[in-house]
Amino acid sequence: MSTEAGYDLEYRSFSLSLAEPLETAGGTIDSRDGFLVRVSREDGAVGYGEATPLPGWTESLADCEAALERARSTLDSGTEDDVLEAVDEAVAARYGVSLALADLEASSESTPLYRYYSPDTLVARVPVNATVGDGSTEETVAAARDAVERGFSCCKLKVGRRSVEADVERMRRVREAVGPEIELRADANGAWDYEEALEAVEAFDDLDVSLVEQPLPAGALEGHADLRGRGVGIGLDEGLLEHGVDAICEARAADVVVLKPMALGGLDIAQQVATWVAQLGMTPLVTTTIDGVVARAGAVHLAASLPDPPACGLATGDLLAEDLGRDPVLFENGAAVVPQAKGLGVEGVWEA
Ligand SMILES: [Mg+2]
Repeated sequence: MSTEAGYDLEYRSFSLSLAEPLETAGGTIDSRDGFLVRVSREDGAVGYGEATPLPGWTESLADCEAALERARSTLDSGTEDDVLEAVDEAVAARYGVSLALADLEASSESTPLYRYYSPDTLVARVPVNATVGDGSTEETVAAARDAVERGFSCCKLKVGRRSVEADVERMRRVREAVGPEIELRADANGAWDYEEALEAVEAFDDLDVSLVEQPLPAGALEGHADLRGRGVGIGLDEGLLEHGVDAICEARAADVVVLKPMALGGLDIAQQVATWVAQLGMTPLVTTTIDGVVARAGAVHLAASLPDPPACGLATGDLLAEDLGRDPVLFENGAAVVPQAKGLGVEGVWEA
């Protein structure tokens, strides 16, 4: 795209309260703060994006805003490549700007965004997991039961803040409560040392747990490699940013690689990484970074553009107490219903 046709980029800040405080690699947060991005063209076409930095994963809010300002001034005179180069060092800003440009282009072609990335696909639904927080055994069982009653067939339990024994007990009680048909996963967010992780993986195998995300800290590659092949898939999430796909593959450190578009810098980059991950024999799994509706819808389109995605971490809207606008994605029976309207499918966010 040349921007000679007269493009305009605007952005404005927002702060969305979380329903519950969120533990992140960068500390506890109680709101998601970011920028809504709008690109408009002379002929009236518009596209929306969202740049919502996450401490510990992306640039800071101030660096994100500075990058968006560079993009805004670059768009007056430059090409799309120039604009993306202006936000190259700031992944959340790059997600916001590249998403707005892609939404505008896909909308102009009357194509849903996922088909803009993968023209030969037609996807109605993407399977999603429920996320069950790190509560007591009773709270965990109640939350998993509730998720299954709401139609989810995959639950991911947050683990790692208690003893391994206590987490295994939580998982055992959930397995008893939901039965053998429900897929169970765990996410330790790097909390364990190798001995703890090994103990957990062996116990989880007996409970038919399919996947443990990031059992060891992000820096550990060989440890993760050693945990593989014991009946439970090993997923890397924080480890992807630390090492990149090549190193993970070379170390044979993962069965599953978690892809967060906000942390990778955009759907275009995430799509390339996903293709690469799959070619290397690993499974890409898309999740949000607990974002507003624009960024979440982008993640849904990314998952829809991939062949046979596993249950993805896309059902995160309930973790916010408020949102940027109406969610175009309906969640039912453990799946996200993929929007088939042109572009991202989000409406009314700028006016709200
Ligand atoms: Mg994770």
